[in-house]
Amino acid sequence: MTMGTFLHGLRARGKKKKRGAGAGRPPGGEQRIAVIGLGRFGSSLATELMARKWDVVGLDESERRVQRHRDLLTHAAVADATDDEVLRQLGVHDFSSAVVAIGSDVEASILVTSNLLEAGVPNVWAKAISRQHGMILERLGAHHVVLPEHEMGERVAHLVTGRMLDFIEFDDDYALVKTVAPSVATGVPLGRTGVRNTYGVTVVGIKRSGQDFTYATAETVIQPGDVIVVTGRTQAVESFAELD
Ligand code: ATP
Repeated sequence: MTMGTFLHGLRARGKKKKRGAGAGRPPGGEQRIAVIGLGRFGSSLATELMARKWDVVGLDESERRVQRHRDLLTHAAVADATDDEVLRQLGVHDFSSAVVAIGSDVEASILVTSNLLEAGVPNVWAKAISRQHGMILERLGAHHVVLPEHEMGERVAHLVTGRMLDFIEFDDDYALVKTVAPSVATGVPLGRTGVRNTYGVTVVGIKRSGQDFTYATAETVIQPGDVIVVTGRTQAVESFAELD
């Protein structure tokens, strides 16, 4: 998963048990975000957000890590984010979002998340390194909890074991899959293939070799070798992608 996909995921999917007021980019409003912890995850996230014109304030207790980000972010500071006074001085209560990108120090991750919620940050994202960690963060009230390693692992497992070229699972057991078209979908207009009734999936896009992706209609005739994008219940799209 690219960081772009992940960022899109931050807005569109994920373990969103509770949504804060206007998750993601505030429409026409302040786009200021605090990224707490500038390890691999926090660093990629922060630099990608900068590329998307967000105002990013990074915080890390490591001088070395902060030094590395000084010229990349709007502002980067060395501090222990478990100290709520530090967060107050940083003005986090005025930020539209904050991401707790601390993983291995679970205690620090919980404390910082709790401080940000206490400060009233409307969108608190927290990274978890295990399901238990994620559960605690959700119970604490974090608006969005992500488990990058687990989610990536699940996704790669789908790609490794199947014929899929790409796989994205949304909430509620719904998935979007990119795969080479099985023969049941080829040769006749899509509307006549019966894939929706028979397999419970909808073909939404098609890519012929050397051409761009385009949307699919009932009249589209898929050729063998075409790459298609299919949506539906996870189990249904998985089974469909396994067909020859
Ligand atoms: P990654 O996989 O993203 O590299 P990780 O899951 O291993 O990170 P950590 O290394 O524990 O997570 O934390 C990421 C960053 O958070 C580190 O740069 C670390 O210095 C910073 N960090 C940890 N605790 C705090 C804290 N209390 N205040 C500020 N920064 C912290």
